[in-house]
Amino acid sequence: MENPAAYTQPELPYDENALEPVISAETVRYHYGKHEKAYIDNLNKLIKGSEFEDMDLEEVIRHASGPLFNNASQAWNHIFYFFTFSPDGGGEPRDELRKAIDRDFGGFDQFKKAFVDAGVGLFGSGWVWLSKDNEGRLFITQGPNAGNPLTAGLTPLLTFDVWEHAYYLDYQNLRQKALENLWNIVDWRVVEGRYSK
Ligand code: MN
Repeated sequence: MENPAAYTQPELPYDENALEPVISAETVRYHYGKHEKAYIDNLNKLIKGSEFEDMDLEEVIRHASGPLFNNASQAWNHIFYFFTFSPDGGGEPRDELRKAIDRDFGGFDQFKKAFVDAGVGLFGSGWVWLSKDNEGRLFITQGPNAGNPLTAGLTPLLTFDVWEHAYYLDYQNLRQKALENLWNIVDWRVVEGRYSK
């Protein structure tokens, strides 16, 4: 019987080929369709009957460890990542988020460079994050493997996946180029909404 409390994979709000040429349909198909599905399936297997079964996913990420943390965080991270993008994305952040970026990084171009540098500089697999603290201050952090700034008490605003599976089909070894191109599909309205929440 199916577990009624199981986590389900939300359908993306755009077509599989909508992010081309930045992210190919093939990458969306494998990355979201196969990798992300596997994390959610594993999460559902691991959480069943555990003390975490009735927690919401962010609480699981804050408190779990080992394989359950890894799969819970990867399940959450990929939804967060793919739902930041839009075929109508790109451009620049506005309003309070823009003010905070200018204040904490010295400008939007400086922020983008620091963010991509952090992603390129992460050895192996992981994620680069923009987060805020309770005072609205911004931080760029690197998370190895399934790392997630929720575990440090921060609120994530934006992430780029720097696992090779995120870009290898489209960019092979060119991680920097893969990350720089993502600026063309970031939906800043989504990120602004996360900042002002
Ligand atoms: Mn990934």
